[in-house]
Amino acid sequence: MCKVPLSCEFFPTATPEGAEKLAAVRRELAYLQCEYYSVTYGAGGSTRDRTMNLVARLVAENGPPVMPHLTCVASSEADIRSLLDDYRALGIYRLMALRGDMPSGALENAGFTTAQQLVAYVRELWGNNARIFVAAYPEVHPRAHTPAADLQAFRDKVAAGATDAVTQYFYNVEAFLRFRDEALALGIDVPIVPGIMPISNFNQLSRFSDACGAEIPRWLRKRLEALQDDLPALCDYGADVVAGICERLIAEGVPALHFYSMNRADLIGELCKRLGWC
Ligand code: FAD
Repeated sequence: MCKVPLSCEFFPTATPEGAEKLAAVRRELAYLQCEYYSVTYGAGGSTRDRTMNLVARLVAENGPPVMPHLTCVASSEADIRSLLDDYRALGIYRLMALRGDMPSGALENAGFTTAQQLVAYVRELWGNNARIFVAAYPEVHPRAHTPAADLQAFRDKVAAGATDAVTQYFYNVEAFLRFRDEALALGIDVPIVPGIMPISNFNQLSRFSDACGAEIPRWLRKRLEALQDDLPALCDYGADVVAGICERLIAEGVPALHFYSMNRADLIGELCKRLGWC
């Protein structure tokens, strides 16, 4: 079994068939004994009901505790308040508090404009016992003005009451370690948990990475490019690389690992086999 706590992210599905498939994925992943499951939220509330439905289902299943994500731009305070009240009524005490990205065509409203404001709001509403997670960016958020401003935004979120951070995924462990040192030097003392993205599709990963500012290092890009038409070989190679990253991070003393599951059990399963966790 893994020496550090694990957690998994799921996204809400659009159909009842999808929901049943995801339930099967969770059954397959039960051996991980996750510390919690997180559920993503669509920009501007586009998956509000679906996120809530999945959260409610996970709570009813009595599995690992559930952490909904919540984005605040393009949402009114009343909307956010009612969602937070509903989560509280379900016994939720962990939240991933995010700014989110403006959906195309949406107008900037007068409400929340940063994750820091949302963290402060949730802290006040939910009190001291809530675990409030925030996002962190070892390779710098793509829209941050400077790396220093990005770290400052992270520090502001912690000062506003965040208790934990999960990072954007990365394949450059040095970038993560440097970021962790810089955060510590700034007095940011919350656990910084690396987000781990399995590799299953070169084009999709390239698109995601361009959009979110995660770098695919040249050596990795070149190999994945060469393997892109041979999916089993690409997944095999990707699992070797990502398992190596997990091993190194654990050796470097990370407090936990968070898997971007992409609603699949097989990709994490391949990692766990290589790591001797199953
Ligand atoms: P903040 O902490 O407020 O900002 C982070 C940095 O980005 C700061 O440096 C800030 O200055 C800069 N920044 C952000 N937007 C702008 C802008 N418009 N102009 C200038 N600077 C800007 N998104 C979803 O929609 N749903 C999810 O469920 C979701 N889950 C996530 C989980 C994790 C672990 C991570 C790492 C990201 C997730 N995201 C999700 C993506 C996230 O919403 C975006 O990265 C968003 O752009 C920033 O959100 P934040 O909470 O980090 O913002």
